[in-house]
Amino acid sequence: MLLPEVEYARPASVQDAVRLLSEYDGARPLAGGQTIINVMKARAAAPDVLVDLQDLEELKGIELATDGTVVLGAMATYSDVIESAEARARPILGEVCAQIADVQVRNRGTVGGNVCSNDPTNHLPPLMVALGATMTVASSGGERSVPAEEFFVGVYETAAGPGELLTRISVPAGKEDGFAAVTIGKDGTCIVNVAASLNGGAPRVVVGCVDAVPVLLRPDSATEDAVREAVQNANLHPPSDVHASAEYRRHLAQVLAARAINEARTRRN
Ligand SMILES: Cc1cc2nc3c(=O)[nH]c(=O)nc-3n(C[C@H](O)[C@H](O)[C@H](O)COP(=O)(O)OP(=O)(O)OC[C@H]3O[C@@H](n4cnc5c(N)ncnc54)[C@H](O)[C@@H]3O)c2cc1C
Repeated sequence: MLLPEVEYARPASVQDAVRLLSEYDGARPLAGGQTIINVMKARAAAPDVLVDLQDLEELKGIELATDGTVVLGAMATYSDVIESAEARARPILGEVCAQIADVQVRNRGTVGGNVCSNDPTNHLPPLMVALGATMTVASSGGERSVPAEEFFVGVYETAAGPGELLTRISVPAGKEDGFAAVTIGKDGTCIVNVAASLNGGAPRVVVGCVDAVPVLLRPDSATEDAVREAVQNANLHPPSDVHASAEYRRHLAQVLAARAINEARTRRN
């Protein structure tokens, strides 16, 4: 299907991008285009202006800070993360990016686009919440930091509002992480996914695909039983569709949470 008519801008700096986004009510960032172009073709969204971020080299970097924080530019693609020596400091980042769709999607799709689209079935929102990442959001008023657990506010909605741009995601140092998913077919959409992290002591277990936003659980301990109990007590109300009933998704949430925490535990030493 053809795209509806839309204005196109290709700014040369973050400052210009933010200016364009705040000047036009209907302006939206264009990152890898893997979601927004499909949504426009389906007539589910009709931005007036697409602000293409492709020329913003400052958003493409992946850096490792001296304290071990991995800083992902919003325009880093999944393939960039997989290949990056710096991102390997937190191994789960590349491992999860390697599970997203196929090589074409991984070469175009960006970490910023993934979290900003906040499709409840995406891989990165639960991962970023489990890892305790911090999102940096730029606007004409300057920059602000938003913890990942406050960034996802609804289906396709995040704390980066109109006129704002996610510029980077900072992931603290660590390695005791796990991720488990059941997908539709080998490279398909997640039916349920779970990310878990033990860094800093208290376990963080985050279930995706079962609600509008990732569901953060804090079990008392990192044992399989404690994690299964935390999922049970979360009283999840996942959707029921042709791929899985709500009951099956609830069951998967427990099984995958156990797998993710077990993986995190095996990385303790
Ligand atoms: C066939 C196929 C299979 C897929 N399977 C999976 C999968 O299994 N798991 C998964 O996680 N994803 C999957 N995806 C989605 C894919 O990962 C997308 O790349 C991703 O969701 C969006 O990233 P993008 O860079 O393409 O963003 P775009 O489509 O360009 O943008 C997405 C949204 O985010 C906004 N946005 C983008 N960047 C910023 C920014 N820096 N600041 C503020 N807003 C911004 C845009 O305005 C838009 O609303 C799949 C996509 C396809 C086409």
